[in-house]
Amino acid sequence: MNPTATISRRKAVQLSSLGLGAALVHPFSVSSKPEIQKKLGVALVGLGRYSNFQLGPALQHTELCELKGIVTGTPSKRETWAKEYGIEARNMYSYEEFDKIKDNEEIDIVYVVLPNAMHKEFTLRAAEAGKHVICEKPMGISAQECLDMMEGCKQAGVKLSVGYRLYFEPHHLEVRRMGVEKVHGKVQMMEAGLGFSMADPTSWRLNKDLGGGGALIDLGLYAIQGCRRVVGEEPTRVTAQGLVHRPEIFKGIWEHMSWQMEFPSGAFSNSTTSYSAYVDRMYATAERGWFQLSPSFNATGATGLTHEGPLSFTTPPYQQIAQIDHFAQCVLEDQEPMNSGYEGWKDLKIIEAIFEAAETGEAVEIGW
Ligand code: NAD
Repeated sequence: MNPTATISRRKAVQLSSLGLGAALVHPFSVSSKPEIQKKLGVALVGLGRYSNFQLGPALQHTELCELKGIVTGTPSKRETWAKEYGIEARNMYSYEEFDKIKDNEEIDIVYVVLPNAMHKEFTLRAAEAGKHVICEKPMGISAQECLDMMEGCKQAGVKLSVGYRLYFEPHHLEVRRMGVEKVHGKVQMMEAGLGFSMADPTSWRLNKDLGGGGALIDLGLYAIQGCRRVVGEEPTRVTAQGLVHRPEIFKGIWEHMSWQMEFPSGAFSNSTTSYSAYVDRMYATAERGWFQLSPSFNATGATGLTHEGPLSFTTPPYQQIAQIDHFAQCVLEDQEPMNSGYEGWKDLKIIEAIFEAAETGEAVEIGW
């Protein structure tokens, strides 16, 4: 951690081991933030679309940390990012020289924004360099990778979180509150889906080795997370179906998927994901009413409605501002992030069960 950063107040929001209590309120009321003398430095690893259009801009609004470094394999991006964000040449690295970042005191946090199959390697290399790590979703391409990443960060004594921006988005916090607090009675059924048309058939997302499994691990993950968080439980049994309509494009991955999850309370969910169709919604029906977000999971904003009327929350300019500042606060105050590696591991464990169910046609029990 940057030695010059100091804390004058302890955090107001206590994190329970499940991250539940803290997630029911917005964690960043102004009064809960520590005062610091110097912002923590963040380095983005991988300067693709998400870094360009979301993380770079979001890091211009964070209060506890700031964009200080980049790691890229494309030399021309150095000039662009120097011009756009004033990144100093001494804080720029290629993937090969990345490990030298351990000697850089200006960088406290490494944010891994690479294709999914590269998350584990760069998370572990960052941890070995003594840097705290935010890793983009999906955390890895298997549950075992997630465990290895958690262990590596623990051994190195650094914090780890997953880029789960919706853990901080006001509409999502509200539907979670309504579900967990049983505001309209117990949630009985949910429908959640996220999908889009994959414009570029050469994208790494369609390559099983780099993407890890297509739409489910990339987008369906949000639908899984949405249902888990609305009921505040983990699913114990899944069934699933997959379909490939265009085998010339979808090789070794499903084009569309649908799956069902059963939760210990008896709640039941049905979900869809696709790389060929647009879907973005979360609907929950409870004993005495219903609530929904549509659109729900995208980074540009949700719209909420219940049987009583609209849900109106101010959409932050970038959802990642609260997410990244939460991580910086956890680093400063030695707390476990709400969007911890453990949360990322849970989603991968469920994803593996869904793949197994789709491939075998059998229901799969998930042992926790
Ligand atoms: P992208 O394809 O736009 O960018 C990927 C970057 O990785 C590029 O800069 C590319 O040059 C670099 N790269 C390095 N080695 C590569 C290789 N072998 N093959 C391909 N690219 C390589 O992807 P993106 O949309 O920026 O996604 C990056 C990560 O961020 C993914 O894990 C994705 O799931 C995640 N993401 C998260 C969100 C979110 O809302 N949390 C949104 C978009 C993407």
